Amino acid sequence: MLITVIYIAKDIFLLYNGQKFERNEGRMATIIEGKTLAKKIRENLKIECEELKKQGIKPKLAVIMVGNNPASKVYVKNKSKACNEIGIEYEEHFLEETISQQELNDLIKKLNNEKEVNGILLQSPLPEHLDINQAFKAISYRKDVDGFTPSSVGKLVMGGDTFISCTPYGVMKMFEEYNIELTGKDVVIIGRSNIVGKPLAQCCLANNATVTICHSRTKDLKKHTQRADILIAAIGKAKFVTKDMVKEGAVVVDVGINRNEEGKLVGDVDFDEVEKVASYITPVPGGVGPMTIAMLMNNVIKAAKEQNNENSTF
Ligand code: NAD
Repeated sequence: MLITVIYIAKDIFLLYNGQKFERNEGRMATIIEGKTLAKKIRENLKIECEELKKQGIKPKLAVIMVGNNPASKVYVKNKSKACNEIGIEYEEHFLEETISQQELNDLIKKLNNEKEVNGILLQSPLPEHLDINQAFKAISYRKDVDGFTPSSVGKLVMGGDTFISCTPYGVMKMFEEYNIELTGKDVVIIGRSNIVGKPLAQCCLANNATVTICHSRTKDLKKHTQRADILIAAIGKAKFVTKDMVKEGAVVVDVGINRNEEGKLVGDVDFDEVEKVASYITPVPGGVGPMTIAMLMNNVIKAAKEQNNENSTF
């Protein structure tokens, strides 16, 4: 009661002095703290993992990496670190750049049949001579913790229980955490990749949003972005989304990860400018990125539970 009175008194004081209006006009968006939310999710998963181990279930992720892509090495290292922290068992398969499609598919099939392995992750990109879609097709949908196989994607489109790919899943969790309602909202997504744009559009559609997907061939991009209640950028171009492209009060989600001239990580959104017009905004780093890994861990735990549940219809 006393606290409420103090807050009201403070508001009246700010209004009286014109400060509250100033603060709203200068509008600073609420920052969607992906890093904090991801930490909370990982802590809960750690508890869940301990519980599973007490029942004799040891969740395990197998990661396959082909070649020596430096960025992929960093991603793989981060995944192993997250597994370690949560208590998920982890194994890596580093394959030579020159491996054949048959050899890669054979390894995937072997892991499909290993009972102790609950999740299989194939790190992209693959060397050019390998067909990533063929490799994804070889992964059992029951172990497809990245949600990239045709079965998982099909189930997502049809509204079935499935593994949702980790970045779109992370974005949906952020909306949930911040009570950002999607029903009836105009969502505009820039980017139509199989790993971000397309599955994200399905997730938003499943939550009753009206979804527009824009891409490199979209005419008059700004016309679309300016009417978005929720604008999601997944392009891969630093500071591509500028303030003039964003509607006042829009929610802005930045999936992009780019390096600027100084080598610093930046998103696809011109954060400093756009936060002045947005109502909510995700930062880079510390936004969508940490959520992606947290949701991967979530999917591994889900895989372990489903594979050890006799009544699973998954
Ligand atoms: P991608 O290259 O597969 O797709 C980029 C998309 O942007 C394409 O659909 C293309 O049509 C569109 N595009 C390019 N130029 C455009 C333009 N001028 N106007 C409109 N659309 C344009 O990339 P991706 O794999 O979807 O990744 C996108 C970005 O998200 C990258 O920066 C990537 O690093 C990042 N990413 C981040 C996470 C994360 O966890 N935060 C996960 C995956 C990807």
